[in-house]
Amino acid sequence: MTREDMLARLDQQQGLWDFIIVGGGATGAGVAVDAASRGYSVLLLEQSDFGKGTSSRSTKLVHGGVRYLEQGNIPLVMEALRERGILRQNAPHLVTNLPFVVPTYDWWEAPFYGLGLKVYNLLAGKYGFGQSEVLSREETLERLPTIRVEGLRGGVVYHDGQFDDARLLISLVQTAAEHGAALLNYVEVTGLTRGGDGTVDGVAARDVETGRAFRAPGRVVINATGPFADNVRRLADPDALPLIAPSQGVHLVFDRSFLPGGSGIMVPHTTDGRVMFAIPWHGHTVVGTTDTPIPHPTLEPQPLETEIAFILETAALYLHKAPTRADVLSAFAGIRPLVRRGDSRITAALSRDHTIHIDSSGLLTTAGGKWTTYRRMAEETVDQAVEFARLPEKACVTAALRIHGYHETAEEFGALAVYGADAPAVRDLLGADSSLGETFDPALPCIRAQALWAARSEMARRVDDVLARRCRALFLNARAAIRMAPAVAALMALELGRDQAWQRREVAAFEALAQQYIV
Ligand SMILES: Cc1cc2nc3c(=O)[nH]c(=O)nc-3n(C[C@H](O)[C@H](O)[C@H](O)COP(=O)(O)OP(=O)(O)OC[C@H]3O[C@@H](n4cnc5c(N)ncnc54)[C@H](O)[C@@H]3O)c2cc1C
Repeated sequence: MTREDMLARLDQQQGLWDFIIVGGGATGAGVAVDAASRGYSVLLLEQSDFGKGTSSRSTKLVHGGVRYLEQGNIPLVMEALRERGILRQNAPHLVTNLPFVVPTYDWWEAPFYGLGLKVYNLLAGKYGFGQSEVLSREETLERLPTIRVEGLRGGVVYHDGQFDDARLLISLVQTAAEHGAALLNYVEVTGLTRGGDGTVDGVAARDVETGRAFRAPGRVVINATGPFADNVRRLADPDALPLIAPSQGVHLVFDRSFLPGGSGIMVPHTTDGRVMFAIPWHGHTVVGTTDTPIPHPTLEPQPLETEIAFILETAALYLHKAPTRADVLSAFAGIRPLVRRGDSRITAALSRDHTIHIDSSGLLTTAGGKWTTYRRMAEETVDQAVEFARLPEKACVTAALRIHGYHETAEEFGALAVYGADAPAVRDLLGADSSLGETFDPALPCIRAQALWAARSEMARRVDDVLARRCRALFLNARAAIRMAPAVAALMALELGRDQAWQRREVAAFEALAQQYIV
């Protein structure tokens, strides 16, 4: 998968695209996979890198949502549990089964959460990830050696899915490309074109790398820009009422010693009434999240001081060695594209969790939901679009569609497991140059071959693309990522034919960006 190949597909397209998708996050890539695998022609345009928005900044859980269960929203939980099972079945190299423990400190908690989590597993039916169990104090300590012991009575263990969000996104982009879609990162949609009857009939776009402006005509334009959805809607109608209520969530990353076992912690009620997780991820500990309404979405949202303090305070309530600011290796923020409720004039909710909305201009916006349910959301979106644009009907095939890299025992590839079936090809690069087996930095396992592979086969264009999303260095350890940047830039420059000035600019830009992940 290369940019040259994708640009060639763009140039070779004769006539209208069936689908033009704006936005290369989970929603856009999901729609691209669905539409392309049904046999429609598909163009997807992403203004930055694939996954630069919310889709690389999640809690990394493929889950039914224990919170929704508490709220009694059984259909939503069942749908998400089903999707969780389908995703593990179609991308076993990227979704793993993770045990979570709810530590209990009050007498009523074990029976209450014990029962609730039994129901959670029962609702999953044949897609279950494993039985939940009430644990003794000793069993809880065995699973969570760093949990606060004062007052600990025991715990309840249950199972959910965990994944690498940005890696799944790249795999979805590859899957769509294998089904013939043209997908381009660093192409911004700057306008929507209109036919004689005023209906949106394509996009105006600009290649961010070259500055080339072009137009692409399509039968239907899908706005899958998540938190930015209202900006794109306003390209068609400057007075469009907002659909999205953006809300920021922050995570702090620590080293593995804060959560050394193989289980995560789920805190069902923080002091502000939310759910909080501490999870082992890529040899580190991720703790979060928060929920802070924000006025305007940006591509690099900043963690607020209050959010950092809140996560540290909550972690201190549950971990006997309280993490401090000095322990934070990386702090990252993402923006939930929550759908506004209560204005039936502008939303047509197909489910409580996400919205598919068709403006009077004919622009179709699909927003909300969560990573776990991206496939179902894509299926509904394509169904709606086909009906709206009067495209020939074709059945959805994604429930049984293997995602690029599908491999049943990918853990045998160690640190390269996320590449699944591609891992041997990444390793083969070492045959030509054994130095590609070296890590960039002792703090992280990312090897030089991964950066080369990212530039050669995964459309990484900038140092940030490699360090933040192809390998997750920026999200795991921002200082280590800064140290890695010059070597990554040099490797990419060789592969992509860039000069010294490009390397200097890229390293400086990445350093400035990564400073924002250091608290
Ligand atoms: C803190 C947090 C934790 C979460 N945790 C979980 C979790 O554990 N599990 C789970 O299932 N879900 C989780 N979610 C939800 C999930 O991450 C989101 O629902 C999902 O990533 C949204 O994807 P999206 O594609 O709609 O938006 P995005 O990923 O933001 O994608 C939109 C894209 O559109 C692009 N774009 C915008 N304007 C233009 C334009 N003019 N031209 C071209 N491109 C444009 C942007 O650059 C961006 O890449 C979490 C969300 C947050 C914020």
